[in-house]
Amino acid sequence: MPEHPLTAEVVSIGDEMTSGARLDTNAQWLSRRLGELGVEVIYHSTVGDSLQGNIDVFRIAAERTDVVVSTGGLGPTRDDLTRQAMAAAAGKPLEFRQTALDHINKMFAMRNREMPERNKVQAMFPVGSLQIFNPQGTAPGVDMTIQRNSGGNSRVFALPGVPAEMKRMFDDTVAPRVLEIRGQGRNHIEHYVMKFFGVGESDMEQRLGEMIDRDHVPRVGITVSSATISLRISAIGESAEECRRQIDATRNEILDRVGELHFGDGEDFEQYHAAERALVDRGECVVSVEFGRSAVLANWFASLGETSAYRGGFCWESIDNAAAFLGVNSESALEVLRVRCEADWVLAVDAYPSLDCNDDAPLPAAEVKLVVIDPAGKVFATTSRIGGHPSIIHERIGKAALSWLRRLLSEHHSQPDAASAPRS
Ligand code: ATP
Ligand code: MG
Repeated sequence: MPEHPLTAEVVSIGDEMTSGARLDTNAQWLSRRLGELGVEVIYHSTVGDSLQGNIDVFRIAAERTDVVVSTGGLGPTRDDLTRQAMAAAAGKPLEFRQTALDHINKMFAMRNREMPERNKVQAMFPVGSLQIFNPQGTAPGVDMTIQRNSGGNSRVFALPGVPAEMKRMFDDTVAPRVLEIRGQGRNHIEHYVMKFFGVGESDMEQRLGEMIDRDHVPRVGITVSSATISLRISAIGESAEECRRQIDATRNEILDRVGELHFGDGEDFEQYHAAERALVDRGECVVSVEFGRSAVLANWFASLGETSAYRGGFCWESIDNAAAFLGVNSESALEVLRVRCEADWVLAVDAYPSLDCNDDAPLPAAEVKLVVIDPAGKVFATTSRIGGHPSIIHERIGKAALSWLRRLLSEHHSQPDAASAPRS
């Protein structure tokens, strides 16, 4: 077992990356995952579809890091050279593996297709290598140890380029094998994601203090996506239970520090899911109204599919247009909508700033009114000053609106008569 933390190099293979035709997202994803495993990624390499280039990259990577993870070049075509390059870098020949061919045949049979002759090359493996099962595609991955000139060895994992396939194979097979290399019998890993809204990243970091240090156990990673903060807890332990104990303890500590900003858990859990959940729990529903040129709330709520929590969404240029359409005055337009839609709540944005600017510069902060009307018809308005880059500003405003709705939902008590009714 090495004394120092394991080091890694991520290798991206394909002309589409070196030519600029495609952005290398695999390297970003893999680097994050390796970091969560406690492996320090110290190099990224990108190489086109040339055999010599690939051999060089594998040799250099194996020479200077403990773990190499490559993506791409495992397909059946002539420009897919990863298998040959790995074999050459390790000084081993390729051999045919019947188990791999059986898998490839099965994948084609499942899709009701005849296996083309050329796919047989995907069953060729460097002598001494292990296969990495690919449940979603034809190309199995390759896992092989390469001896270093400088002594010791490096473990090289080659995965297909297709992002969905490589992610699944990394999590299912590569991650446990990397943890095995580290030894200590701690080869379980569990992840848990918590979501927050309401402060900037640096405030969050300050309040979390040492919890987000690189050597914190378990590791807590922070990422921000247009004002939503995700904390990803990655626990490594001897068993799934041990991982879960670490996660529970850390989750509680995080809630002690920043609990009031927390709106839910899970990678894909957003504020509109939290709002939906709160409304469903109360047996109530909301209608969204957006002024200006955007419909982010309507889109988010619509993406929930069938739900009793959402009564529909309206977009108008301005509240005057809405009032004219409804035949009422501007002051009562939102309440009239609530009643006519038979909704309990209204959530309104008044108004999204125009994005009609020629350049890409951040917009100055604009005042946006966020309005909620509760089931009794009471109006709660707040003003938010929101600026930022045009590509995210509408989304941020939508999120601020949802945050305002969630807060009022959590503070709002049931109707007085319902509240005072004796509980049975
Ligand atoms: P396959 O068996 O599916 O042919 P492969 O290993 O040969 O897999 P490639 O042909 O290199 O993979 O790439 C397959 C797809 O994955 C292509 O659409 C490619 O653009 C995409 N891809 C490859 N590498 C990356 C990367 N680093 N980041 C994002 N997408 C990638
Ligand atoms: Mg390719």
